[in-house]
Amino acid sequence: MRRLAEAWDRGEIGPTAFLPAPGRIGLASLSADLGVRAESVSFLACGALRPVLDRYFAACRVHLAERHWDLGVCPFCGAPPGFGDLTDTGQRRLACHVCGGGWVFPRLRCPFCGAQSAKDLVRLEAEEREEGYFISACRQCRVYVKELDRRIRWNAGSALVEDWGSPHFDMVALREGYRRPIASLIQLARRP
Ligand SMILES: [Zn+2]
Ligand SMILES: [Zn+2]
Repeated sequence: MRRLAEAWDRGEIGPTAFLPAPGRIGLASLSADLGVRAESVSFLACGALRPVLDRYFAACRVHLAERHWDLGVCPFCGAPPGFGDLTDTGQRRLACHVCGGGWVFPRLRCPFCGAQSAKDLVRLEAEEREEGYFISACRQCRVYVKELDRRIRWNAGSALVEDWGSPHFDMVALREGYRRPIASLIQLARRP
């Protein structure tokens, strides 16, 4: 992080270095040249860019019509989803932690690789089940996303709050060999 701060102070990198890019968050050189862990880059992107991007995209959010976007990345900033919500109408809405956006996405499709087969899509179970919370994982790409059924947990917090508040579910998924593209707090706490 010290090398990152020095590069920042020298003006070699700026906020755009943390924007999502295909397959990753931020410039590859942040990890390759400055030795910043991908998890840290992801966390910095969510923490530092989100207030700015949320405001930046505010006026255009309303123009995203339902089902006009069926990719597994945020239609506004291009980041992969950080959390999923089943809304009161039963739709699956993916949440972007980087810009605060969200979009409706098919329930039976992996947002990360597009797999749709029932044999590829699994729900991982925590030892102690909590009604309304579940982990959607994909056997094809080995990526997972935590989700919340808001018809059951109608008084739950925002997607980001619920995500950061449920590290025990990340433990379950990580232990079973799955990963997530937007770092969880538990990954940040782990030593590299
Ligand atoms: Zn976004
Ligand atoms: Zn997949």
